[in-house]
Amino acid sequence: MAKRGGSMAGAMARLWAPWRMAYIKEAEKGEACFLCGLPKQKKDRENLILKRGKSCFVILNKYPYNNGHLLVAPYRHVADIEKLTNAESLELMRLTGRAKVALDRAMKPHGYNVGVNLGRAAGAGLPGHVHLHVVPRWNGDTNFMPLLGDTKVLPLTLAESWEMLARRLR
Ligand SMILES: [Zn+2]
Repeated sequence: MAKRGGSMAGAMARLWAPWRMAYIKEAEKGEACFLCGLPKQKKDRENLILKRGKSCFVILNKYPYNNGHLLVAPYRHVADIEKLTNAESLELMRLTGRAKVALDRAMKPHGYNVGVNLGRAAGAGLPGHVHLHVVPRWNGDTNFMPLLGDTKVLPLTLAESWEMLARRLR
């Protein structure tokens, strides 16, 4: 395992690669954009939607790097952050802040990685619908989460994570 303090690109590659293949596999199966599709359904628990705002929403990542890894996205299918309206930009960041508070209380992480992958070259698994990743980090977490192929052992299920976070975002 590489030590802390490596290059940003190296860190991002390690951090944001694991779920990329899963997204690409879904995309290759011809499945529609899930960030557009899931909010249209009324099954937030099943779909892992944690919070609905006016223009943006919060959803747990189905392919998490870590416990509590969530995504904040606009409902609108826009590819780039500069295409967001002022209202969407504001709510995106406000919801990110609220999600962080919920994660603080529910899971007590030691830190976070928050960021956006734009374009496939940057590791975006779902180019076309901009979304912001919030990844809680714990000291030494990479030591406890070895990757076995693309399978990973996580101490919390997605359903458990949803329960812990959704009520704190109500
Ligand atoms: Zn979309």
